[in-house]
Formats: sequence, structure tokens, C-alpha cells
Amino acid sequence: MYKYEIRHKSYIKDENRFQKTFIWGMTTATIMNGKVEITLAELIESKFLRCSKCNQIYQDPRILPCLHTFCKNCIEEISHDAPVTTNQENSIDRLQCPICQSFIGIPGEGATTFPENPFLSNLLNIHEYKHPKERKCDYCSFDGKKTSAEYLCLDCNDDMCSNCSDAHRRTKITRNHSVIPFKQIQNGLYDHDMRSHQARPCTKHDDQLDFFCEICEILICPQCKNEEHDSHKSIKFDDALPRYKRHINGLLEGIQGRIPSIADYVKYLKSYENSLKESKQKLTENLEAQSNTLHQIIDNYKSEMLANISQKCEAELADLETKSNNLEIAGKSLQDNATYLQYLLHHG
Ligand SMILES: [Zn+2]
Ligand SMILES: [Zn+2]
Ligand SMILES: [Zn+2]
Ligand SMILES: [Zn+2]
Ligand SMILES: [Zn+2]
Ligand SMILES: [Zn+2]
Repeated sequence: MYKYEIRHKSYIKDENRFQKTFIWGMTTATIMNGKVEITLAELIESKFLRCSKCNQIYQDPRILPCLHTFCKNCIEEISHDAPVTTNQENSIDRLQCPICQSFIGIPGEGATTFPENPFLSNLLNIHEYKHPKERKCDYCSFDGKKTSAEYLCLDCNDDMCSNCSDAHRRTKITRNHSVIPFKQIQNGLYDHDMRSHQARPCTKHDDQLDFFCEICEILICPQCKNEEHDSHKSIKFDDALPRYKRHINGLLEGIQGRIPSIADYVKYLKSYENSLKESKQKLTENLEAQSNTLHQIIDNYKSEMLANISQKCEAELADLETKSNNLEIAGKSLQDNATYLQYLLHHG
């Protein structure tokens, strides 16, 4: 029989490990995109972008340490659904992930402060552009005008109307920017360009996460690098990527290796359940049959005994009747004799 132990993680107490898992979540999904042979376009339209709690397209997706993601509001609901409080040692409030049932410590600032899932947020951003919705020109809105946008600059991440996009293409600084019409985004021509232009902003500073701190194993921005990670060894994001992709691939293979045996175990449990049900059915039927046989034997014995008793009683009764008749006749005869003898004494 297989034996499994699925360990539930609760990393939240350790900020660094939490961050680590958070980054892995991003990269694993990227690798999955290449390995599972799902195109970016398919991934964007798949249920991957749907929250399993509300079944809607994610709204502000937040990732839990178990790597499951929910809308920010859904996480808050989950934390109310199952107010699993107090972990005896340090009484941290916990919630239970509805997918993997892991217990997860809620950050001190509340359930809504779980980190954003940047990988999903970026895919959602592409999804938003691919599904037509009225958008306004960012530049015209500086002048208080509300003009419909028709173009997106991938470099500035700004929406533009036709006039502003023309102007954008003429300035020295923005001349080489990739300005693309919404229509072509909707046709799926720019999925990969949009993805490769997406930013990795630092949550603490107004800068990009272009470095990887090898000590803390998290992405950092140039400012982080000079401040809190000053004495740590860090490498450029692009150099860290191949190495960590290899590492993640190893982890992924380990996980994928376990999936078939878990499936086998589930199959085994199912067949065990079926054979248990069959055994129960057979035992019930046997017991029923045995009980019927026993009842039959008892009924037969009872009938036989009743017939026997009845027969004996009848014979006995008949005998008694004969004897009683004979005695009656004898009694009458004696009475006659006595009467005769009395007549003889008085009158003879
Ligand atoms: Zn949701
Ligand atoms: Zn989970
Ligand atoms: Zn405009
Ligand atoms: Zn631009
Ligand atoms: Zn930073
Ligand atoms: Zn560091």
C-alpha cells in the first residue's frame, strides 16, 4: 500500500522564504508556458486567469505561500469563511487555502496584504487589452479632454488617441517606441511583445527589479541593491534567469514525477473503495440467505411438531371418549341392577 504525506507549508512567518516562493511562483508559470505546450494566447484565455473562489477573471490577484492565487477580495472572504485562529505557540491568525487545505498565517497587516501575483497581473493586463473596453487617451486626459484611445505604446505603457500616437511617433525620444493599434492586440498579434515589455516594478521603490540577490534569493531593484542588500552578492536578472530556470525545471520534474504516483494511489483507493462496497454487498446477501434458510428450518420443525402434537392429542381424546362411553354404559347397567335388586327386596 502506498503511503503519502503531503506536507502543508506555512512560510509566512519567514519573510524571506515567503518572497522566495513568491518569485518561484512567477517563474514556474513561465516555464509551464514553454513546457506544457500551451501558447501564450491560449494561456491568456484559459481558466488560469479565473479565480477558483469566485470563478471570475481575477481582480487584483494575490498569491499565498502555497502558490495558490485568489482575488484580493476573495482572500479576505476566505479569511472570514474559516477564521482558524490561534496557533498555540504565538497565536497567529490563520486561513485555510480552499484548494490545498494548507493553513497559512495571515500577515500582521491583514489578509489583504498578501503580495500581488505579478505574473498573473501582467497576463491580466494583456487580457484586458484583448477584450475590447472603452479606454481613454492618457495624454489628452492631462489636458482634461476625454478622447477614446486606439493605440498603446509598449515602452511607455500609455494609451493614446490617433492624434497623440502620431505626435508620439515624431518626438526624438519616443520615435522608436512600439506603438500598436488596439485592433492588432485584439487579433493576438502582440501577445509576446506585450509580455516582453512588461515591467517588473519594485514594491518599495520606483524602479525595476533588474537584479537578483543571491543571499536573500529575491529580485531587487538598483536602489534595494545599494541599500538593504548592499553587502549581499547580487547578479543581473538576465544572468540569474537561466540558472533559476534550470533549478525550477528540476523542481518541476520532481513535482511532475510525483503526480503519476499520486494518481495511481487515488486509483488504488478508488478500487479499494469499490471492493469494500462489493464485499459489503456479498456479506449482506450471504447473511440474508443464511437467515432465510434458518427461518425455513425453524418453520418446518414447528409445522412438524404441531402436526405431531395434534395427531397424538386426537388419538388420546378418541381413547378417552371410548373409555368414558364404556363407563357410562357400565354405570347405567349397574344402576339397572341396583333398581332391580331394590324392587326384589320390597316386593319379591
Ligand atoms: Zn475571486
Ligand atoms: Zn493552496
Ligand atoms: Zn490623445
Ligand atoms: Zn512611448
Ligand atoms: Zn527596490
Ligand atoms: Zn539580499
